[in-house]
Amino acid sequence: MTFDSLNIIKPILESLALEGYTIPTPIQLEAIPPLLEGRDLLGSAQTGTGKTAAFAIPILQKLYSKSMPTKKEKRIKALILTPTRELAAQIQDSFRTYGRNLGLKTIVVFGGVGQKPQTDMLKAGVDILVATPGRLLDLMAQGFIDLQFLDFFVLDEADRMLDMGFIHDVNKVIAKLPSKRQTMLFSATMPPLIEELANSILVHPKRIAITPVETTVEKIEQFVYHVAKKNKVELLYSLLKDKKITSALVFTRTKHMANKVSQALFTKGVTTDAIHGNKSQSARIEALRRFKAGEIRVLVATDIAARGLDIDELSHVINFDLPDVPETYIHRIGRTGRAGLSGVAITFCGEDEYGLFLDIEFHIGIKINVIKDHLFAITPTLQKPMPKPPVMPKRRRNPYERTNR
Ligand code: AMP
Repeated sequence: MTFDSLNIIKPILESLALEGYTIPTPIQLEAIPPLLEGRDLLGSAQTGTGKTAAFAIPILQKLYSKSMPTKKEKRIKALILTPTRELAAQIQDSFRTYGRNLGLKTIVVFGGVGQKPQTDMLKAGVDILVATPGRLLDLMAQGFIDLQFLDFFVLDEADRMLDMGFIHDVNKVIAKLPSKRQTMLFSATMPPLIEELANSILVHPKRIAITPVETTVEKIEQFVYHVAKKNKVELLYSLLKDKKITSALVFTRTKHMANKVSQALFTKGVTTDAIHGNKSQSARIEALRRFKAGEIRVLVATDIAARGLDIDELSHVINFDLPDVPETYIHRIGRTGRAGLSGVAITFCGEDEYGLFLDIEFHIGIKINVIKDHLFAITPTLQKPMPKPPVMPKRRRNPYERTNR
C-alpha cells in the first residue's frame, strides 16, 4: 500500500516523496481515510508511530481544498494542542514540511520564550496553530487568539497532559472551542480520565490502536558493555572512532553527567552538545537543530530533556547510564529504529548497575548481547545489598521478675 492509494492530493504527495516517505505507517493507513471523510478520531498511539503525519496530512488537505476557490483570510482553522515545547516545534515542522506546496501558514506558540515574536506572527495571520496549553491560554486571555473559526482540533499526547498536570488548562481551552468541528485525540495509554475526556469531546469517533513501541524493541540491535563507571567516557570515545556511528543520542542519568560527558568528548574533538533542564529553551532548540542538521554527531541528554524529541535517522542510542526503570530503557532505545528502520542501542553497565540491567533484560524478555572483548571490560557481579544493622532481640520480660509496681 502506498500513499497514492489514500486519495491524497498531488502537492502533498510530492512533499512526502521529497521526505522519502514511500509507504504509510499503520496509523497513517488507518487514520487518513476516516479523517478525510470528516470523522472524529481516537488514536491510541505513541510518538514514533508516524501519528503526526496521520493527522497533519488530512488537516492540510482539507484546509487546502476548502480554501481553493477563494483565498480566504488567514485565521486559525486548526489547533493542535501538545504538552511539550519540543513536540510543539516538531509538529509545526511536520505541517510545514508536508504542506510546503499549499501556501498555508503554520505557527507555534509555547512558553519559556518571549511572547512578542509569537504575537507578531499571530497578528500577521495564521491557518494552523500548534500550541502548548499554558501559553495558549495566556495569549487567549490577552486577546491575541480567536478560535471562533476553528474547524479542526487535535489533542496530542493526552495522557501526558494529564501526567504533567495540564488537564485543567486543556479543559479551559476546549470550553472555548466552537462545538462544530472535527476532533482528534491521541494518547499512548487510555487511563479512565482520558476515556472520559474522549467521550465528552469526540462524536462517534473512529478508534485506532497501534501497537506500542515495546514491540519494536526486537527490531533494534542491542549490546551491553560491562565497564567500570570511571572508564565510561573513555569507552564512549573509543566506540565513537567507529564511523558507522553517524549520529548518537547518549543518555545520562543527571544533568551534571550530561555536561561532563559532552565536555569530555568536545575536548577530544567530537562534535557534541548536551541538553537538559538547566539549559534555556533556545539553547535546547539550537542543539537539536544542529544535531538534526548533522552539524553535531553526539547529543547527550537526560531523559526529561529528551522527552518527545523527534529525530530522524538516528543511528545509535547509547545508554551511558542505565535508567532506573525498564520502561525508560524501552523509550530510550525506541528512538532508533523508527518508522521501520533498524537501529542500534548500546548500553554501558557500570559495576553498580548490574541489578538494574538484569531487571531490564527480564522486562523486555530479550537477552542483550554482551560485548566482552573491549579495553575496559569488567566481570559483572551483583552487588550485595548493604548489610542491615543487627537487630537486637527484644528483651522478654521475665514474668517472675519482681517489679516495684
Ligand atoms: P511521529 O510518530 O509522528 O513522531 O513520527 C515518527 C517519525 O517517523 C518521524 O521522524 C517522521 O518523520 C517519520 N515518518 C512518519 N511517517 C513516515 C513514513 N510513512 N515513512 C517514513 N518515515 C515516516
